[in-house]
Amino acid sequence: MKLIRFGEPGKERPGLILPDGHRVDVSGFGGDYDEAFFGSNGLERLARWLAKEERAAPVIADTVRLGPPLVRPSKIVCVGLNYRDHARETGQAIPAEPVLFFKATTALSGPNDDVIIPKGSTKTDWEVELAVVIGRRASYVEKHAALDHVAGYVLHNDYSERAFQLERGGQWVKGKSCDTFAPLGPFLATPDEIPDVHNLPMWLKVNGETKQSGSTKDLVFDVPVLVSYISQFMTLLPGDVISTGTPAGVGLAQKPPRFLVDGDEVELGIDGLGSSRQRLRAYR
Ligand code: ZN
Repeated sequence: MKLIRFGEPGKERPGLILPDGHRVDVSGFGGDYDEAFFGSNGLERLARWLAKEERAAPVIADTVRLGPPLVRPSKIVCVGLNYRDHARETGQAIPAEPVLFFKATTALSGPNDDVIIPKGSTKTDWEVELAVVIGRRASYVEKHAALDHVAGYVLHNDYSERAFQLERGGQWVKGKSCDTFAPLGPFLATPDEIPDVHNLPMWLKVNGETKQSGSTKDLVFDVPVLVSYISQFMTLLPGDVISTGTPAGVGLAQKPPRFLVDGDEVELGIDGLGSSRQRLRAYR
């Protein structure tokens, strides 16, 4: 299944993209894509409901905005320097263990919403990433059982303010958490939609020019390792998001560095997870 949420910001309702490409409203199922949904076999219940109700589900007009495909989760855990070529371009060593940092959940936005360049920003940057959505409470999960705890996968742009992140002291969270810095979607794909999550081409363009072109086959730490590893340090709840890191080609590493300005357009995609597009806007 491909889960979407649609409607005005803060008032999104649950929907699905059907195999024929139609987008349908599944409000009639009762309940949104939140912790309770994922934590109570919601995906299975939804599939059963859909088998009976698909024809009655209202079609969503093409013009309707998409929101993030899940309700604001308890946390967004990000993984840094998880592609060799990206570690190299930033002059960092390939980490011996996954580098973890948080992104505020208030940064979440729709896949095609404007991204607001934060107040005082001079170094707003892009990062195409595969994100993993947790489906079952995960604490001290073994690697072999990790994928049983995954609800699905989603495209994420891990926007980053490099001066806030790297020049203002303390932890990376400062440069990762600004409002609109986590456009998620267009849809959450359940694992059956993705034959091999570790072989997905991914790309990102700025104003039509390709900046990132990579593949999840180059992940340093793969999805089972990350779920298991993170669950040794915290409990992952249903609906939580893990963003698995970005390949080479970020603005910081361009020569000269290229940061985003008002009016820029960023477009990105991962095979099987669709594409998204954000227009950059100055803070006002
Ligand atoms: Zn990132």
